[in-house]
Amino acid sequence: MLVFKFGGASVKDAEGIVNLGKVVGKYKDEQLLVVVSAMGKTTNALEKLTKAYIDQTDDIQAIYEDIKQYHHNILNELFEPSHPVFNEVANTFVEIDWMVEDEPHNDHDFIYDQIVSVGELVSTRIVNAYLNKEGLKSQWLDVRGYIHTDNTYREGIVQWHKTCESIQKDIPALLEKGLVVTQGFLGGTSENFTTTLGREGSDYTASIFGACLGAESVTTWKDVPGILNADPKLFDDTVKFDELSYTETIEMTYYGASVIHPKTIKPLQNAKIPLLVKSFYHPDEAGTVIKESAAHIFEKPVIIIKQNQVLLSLATRDYSFISENHLSDIFGRFAQGPIKINMMQTSALSFSVCFDYQQEKFSKFLASINPDYKVKYNTGLTLITVRHYTDNTYLRSLTAGKTVLLEQLSRNTAQVVVKELLKSFLN
Ligand code: ASP
Ligand code: MG
Repeated sequence: MLVFKFGGASVKDAEGIVNLGKVVGKYKDEQLLVVVSAMGKTTNALEKLTKAYIDQTDDIQAIYEDIKQYHHNILNELFEPSHPVFNEVANTFVEIDWMVEDEPHNDHDFIYDQIVSVGELVSTRIVNAYLNKEGLKSQWLDVRGYIHTDNTYREGIVQWHKTCESIQKDIPALLEKGLVVTQGFLGGTSENFTTTLGREGSDYTASIFGACLGAESVTTWKDVPGILNADPKLFDDTVKFDELSYTETIEMTYYGASVIHPKTIKPLQNAKIPLLVKSFYHPDEAGTVIKESAAHIFEKPVIIIKQNQVLLSLATRDYSFISENHLSDIFGRFAQGPIKINMMQTSALSFSVCFDYQQEKFSKFLASINPDYKVKYNTGLTLITVRHYTDNTYLRSLTAGKTVLLEQLSRNTAQVVVKELLKSFLN
């Protein structure tokens, strides 16, 4: 059996859904489970709605209406007005209607998950109805009864044993009957509350199903031809990898390559299931295959750009050396944040770290660390990571004309923090 994942960009409009139908139609003879994200930028819009609701601002209804209207327009293009999917979608939105009428309570992460999850619940209703309309027998599955998580809202931790047990119990029989369409990114707690797995988590959902079902492969369909050595929105001379190893892909996502969610690879690597990254515009092309032993030919270095970085330097208040005890204390505070460190460097008197800027977490972190350390920081920076670089000239050309604040070179990987917030390296 196969697992497919379609991201938000692939289902951003009626045309995308028609295209999804064509891609899925090519696999009529296979057992297929289809994981779908929220349509287009719906998750961002729902995040905005959550914030407006928590802050009780005046634009709640306007933001909410826009989200409903966007889905309604897509429905109008795909279905006759009498089609039952209009009701299914309306009933799904009712889940938030109830919520936004009440005063928000204190658990903001809980509220976030209950509201934001509607994006996937609605998109899968639409995709499922469309596939059935096209004669591809499809069954809508509520993923919240299958992907079991703890109650860490916004970052649900998957309970693997229970999850695989549920999936293996029901899904094979459903696949015998036809396609299964389900939501990416969502999970459910033992009290039947909705959780989410972290932004862009639909890839991870596909990987969980793939691993638990022992799929032949998992495919994520994207608006790029496969995994490229750099972001084509920033660089114009990119090359595609035909094959990549699991480990190289994990390294790439660790450094911030956003093409695949970082949690996706490990379950597939453990189960030895290949992950294919393919273009939904050119479904017959091979894309990139991620597997155990891949022929690595790095014609060009891998370049990963992370924008919106903070570089923070800490020194002790009495200017004594930074000792292992200080480092242990500092790491503890990052872990508590939690703030993921992208790069770090120690010297006798200071410790420098680079990480993603997230306003709320950063303010909390500063407030906690300020009494104990001398703190200096810059925001709005860019972290450039280059893997498999062969000569320094290339690296220099990337940073030419930019103010380098921190640099680190190892045999395989170079990392440079520059002051500029880079929009593009295109000339
Ligand atoms: N819709 C969610 C997000 O945008 C999950 C995903 O796209 O993978 O973060
Ligand atoms: Mg998305």
